[in-house]
Formats: sequence, structure tokens, C-alpha cells
Amino acid sequence: MAVFEAPDFDGHEHVAFAHDKESGLKAIVAIHNTHLGPSLGGCRMFPYASDDDALRDVLRLSRGMSYKSALAGLPLGGGKSVIIGNPQTDKSPQLFQAMGAFVEKLVGQYIVAQDAGISVEDLQHVAQKTQHVAGVENAIDDHQRVRSGDPSPATAYGVFVGIKAAVKHRFNTENLNGIRVAIQGVGNVGFALAKHLHAEGAKLFVSDVNPANVKRAVDVCDAVAVSNDEIAGLDVDVYAPCALGGAINANTINIITAPVIAGCANNQLDEKIFAETLRQKNILYAPDYVINAGGVIHVHYMRTKRTWEESTAHVENIAHTLEEIFVRADKEGKATDTVANIIAEERLYGAAVLSADVVAQRVNVGG
Ligand code: NAD
Repeated sequence: MAVFEAPDFDGHEHVAFAHDKESGLKAIVAIHNTHLGPSLGGCRMFPYASDDDALRDVLRLSRGMSYKSALAGLPLGGGKSVIIGNPQTDKSPQLFQAMGAFVEKLVGQYIVAQDAGISVEDLQHVAQKTQHVAGVENAIDDHQRVRSGDPSPATAYGVFVGIKAAVKHRFNTENLNGIRVAIQGVGNVGFALAKHLHAEGAKLFVSDVNPANVKRAVDVCDAVAVSNDEIAGLDVDVYAPCALGGAINANTINIITAPVIAGCANNQLDEKIFAETLRQKNILYAPDYVINAGGVIHVHYMRTKRTWEESTAHVENIAHTLEEIFVRADKEGKATDTVANIIAEERLYGAAVLSADVVAQRVNVGG
């Protein structure tokens, strides 16, 4: 297994491998970049076909977290971890305690949170062995709100304010009344988003592979149910991919006519080149990792014992970040996704240069 030569290796600061004989833990932590702060990112449990597949995933996902946190304006770097195993059959308290001990050895440079295959209960076992864990809070605040580690409501709210920013930029209106939105996938985030949009008078069209989730959106939000084949090509103002990755792919790129694409799904662009195709088609694309950052913002604020109001105010800033990206993309004639990456790199590597300067000054002062 090559690490430094792996296609997804991007100058990662630290890649650590752990094995615990007693519990059977096999895990990898990748810390991509800590120039803005300690790295935070979810732990994913999956029965990877090979160690190479696990390494590829953790390298790619940790880099994505650096970019997401940088654009969210969080004092955090990018990290991620993977446990090689089947979440249906291979879980045990001992396995997650061993994972906690592994994270503890990284002395706070990596803060572990929830991702696919991992529950809050699993994280609570992790937390028995390390304090460097986020998303296990379950206290009640002064307003009787659960300070939950569940990121979905904050993600949905961030996507909602992001859609408003995109609609304002594209249609020059702050009013969502009558705006037609097609939501693909009305699960945790998609349904919460539907409720926000419905409350502001948007007309909703929804699809989901789970008929119960479609019914819920139809009943609660007066949405129109459409098939999964139709949703991308619908004649609407906003297309909101909220299911799995790859919604913008070789099949859909030519049928999407919505002037705005803005949804919560990760990795919406099946191929990076589609960002430029969308620009040429005059479709405004809200980069996925910018608009869906509400969850990581919320998890950070809850972990650092800040208030709900502070967290919500930060989530609302997603609208300003998107506006900055849209304006700069127009001015420079670049795809919004490209501009988002440039801003993230300015923050990440600008910060690196800055810290080097500060270190140099300190050395000078001391010397
Ligand atoms: P979820 O599993 O609760 O919801 C996904 C929904 O999509 C489900 O209702 C599922 O039935 C449906 N679905 C699956 N395949 C589909 C298809 N081909 N067509 C239509 N519907 C389909 O997940 P979620 O937490 O709501 O997350 C949704 C997306 O947002 C994921 O891509 C996730 O990675 C991303 N995301 C989530 C969060 C969060 O806070 N939960 C944060 C950032 C990004």
C-alpha cells in the first residue's frame, strides 16, 4: 500500500494506523491540515474491500474537511477517520474504547465526530477513553433545547439560508413565496429543509426512494411527489440534491434546467468538470461543502459549550460566504466551485504562511 504516492495524498500532515488485537480494531486517522486549528471530522465505519480503499476514503474525506471548515470560518483543520469493519456485525463497546485510546494518542490534533455507520452511542464509548470527541452532548439548555450532537437540523438551516442567498443573487428577490424548489431526498436534512421552505411559501416537489419519506413531505409541507427519474429535469427555480452524491452526472447535466442548484448532499458533482459546464449553462451552483457546513458549525459550538444563538448566527454566515463566492465567480468568469476552492486554499495556506511569519518574528524577538 503506497501512502505518499497514493493519488489522494495531498500533503497530509499526519496519517496514523491503529490495530487492537483484543477488540479487532483496524482504523486509520488522516489529519490533512491543522493550520487553522485542530482537525475535526467524522469517523466512518465500513467493510472496505481493501486497505487501499479505506486509505483512499480517509485521505479524500479529511482533505474535504479542511476546505469545509476553512470556508465555514471555523478555527478547525481537516481530519477524518475510518474503521475497517461491518457496522451491522463488528461493533462492540471494546472496539470503540480502543478507537478512543487511539484518538487520545494524537493529543488533540484530531477530534472525532460521527459519520456513516457510527451512532451517538458508539461515540459515547469512544468518549470513555478520550476527551477529543464531538457530538456526544445530550444536555438540555436554558430554553429546554437539547444540545444534541445531531448535526442535521443545523445543516438544514444552513442550506435554507444558502438557498435564500442563491435566489437573491439569481432572481434579485429575498422573497421565497411561490419559488419552486425540487428536493431530491427528503430524509433528515431534506425534510427539515422542506419545512423551512414551506413556512416561507415556497412550492415544493419531492422525490425519495423511501415512499414513507415522500408521504411525510406531501402531508406536512404540501409537496408534490415526483419520481426519482423526473426530479433533476423538473421545470423549477431551484434544484436541491439532498440524497446521495453524484446528483450532477453525465445523465443529468443535460436535463437540469433549474437556474439554481443548492442542496445538502455531499459530492454533488460526479466529475469536477461539471462545475464549469453549469457556469456555461448559466446555472448558479452553490458549492456543496459550503452550503452544507451548518452541521460541523453546530457540532463545534456545542462541543465548545457555546450557546444555540451563537451557533445559529454562525450558520447564517453561510449566506454571506456564498454571496462572496457568487460575486467573485461572476467577476472572474470562473465556476463557483473553483472560486470556493481558491478561497479555501487562500485561508488554509495563507494561514500557513502567516504562522511561519509569526514563528519567524518570535524567533527574531527571542534572539
Ligand atoms: P438521510 O439518510 O437521512 O436522507 C437521505 C434521503 O435520501 C433518505 O430519505 C433516502 O431514502 C433518500 N435517497 C437515497 N437515495 C436516493 C435516490 N437515489 N433518490 C432519491 N432519494 C434517495 O441523510 P441526511 O443526513 O439527510 O443526509 C443527506 C445528504 O446530505 C447526504 O449526502 C449527506 O452526506 C449530506 N450531509 C448531511 C449532513 C447532516 O448533518 N446530516 C451534513 C452535511 C452533508
